[in-house]
Amino acid sequence: MNMPTDISIVIPVYNEEDNILPLLSELQGELDKLGRSYEIVFVDDGSRDRSFEILKGVASLNRKIKVIRFKENRGQTAAFDAGFKIAKGNIVVTMDADLQNDPKDIHLLLEKIGEFDVVCGWRYKRRDPWIKIASSRIANFVRNKLSQEDIIDTGCSLKAYKRECLKRLKLFNGMHRFLPTLLKMEGFKVTQIKVNHRPRKFGRTKYNIRNRIIRSFVDLLAVRWMKRRHLDYEIEEVIR
Ligand code: UDP
Ligand code: MG
Repeated sequence: MNMPTDISIVIPVYNEEDNILPLLSELQGELDKLGRSYEIVFVDDGSRDRSFEILKGVASLNRKIKVIRFKENRGQTAAFDAGFKIAKGNIVVTMDADLQNDPKDIHLLLEKIGEFDVVCGWRYKRRDPWIKIASSRIANFVRNKLSQEDIIDTGCSLKAYKRECLKRLKLFNGMHRFLPTLLKMEGFKVTQIKVNHRPRKFGRTKYNIRNRIIRSFVDLLAVRWMKRRHLDYEIEEVIR
């Protein structure tokens, strides 16, 4: 008989060969302390390094680890989507594979789930190159202004969701940056908490200003449109 799973950790991986094993050992240490049932879902987004070999190895030793491998690189939203679809946990926690998010923060997110449906991490002391921090501040400001939103750090992958929220989502490429907004539109309660952030030690970032700015602006216009056109009605009475 399959036991119910309490928590699923969903982690997109694209060329993170040196990060997987240290992340896994930190993560398991933290998850074991919680004393709750869990699984870890790695989604290999078409890596071209040894990431998948390493994931296959760890999954063969540990039944709590699930691995999905894409044929080709399809982006972080696609990876989240695939992970959400096989996640069995009542709570789904997402994080990056590159050790920049700190597994020690997971219990803080979980403390707020219950009162809230979605808990977003806010990397209040961000440890990235200044150009990335500056461009991301501007992007968050423009995003919040144009979509009338108040999410300080939507790019932080460290988030926790009640699984039922995710069932309603129809995701499109690039939408991982707007998950809190999309979920608020569905009526879910979203909050933000401060989380730790660490510099990237191994491997390279997959995003730069050029590959983010235009695409995420177009995405923002789409979300703004969705928000404006969102159906919002209350039924007063139904006869028959
Ligand atoms: N990632 C992915 N597919 C992509 C780009 C990124 O699965 O096409 C993963 C990546 O391996 C990492 C996370 O998404 O686990 C965040 O990427 P990255 O660290 O490059 O972003 P940054 O922290 O620099 O914004
Ligand atoms: Mg990173």
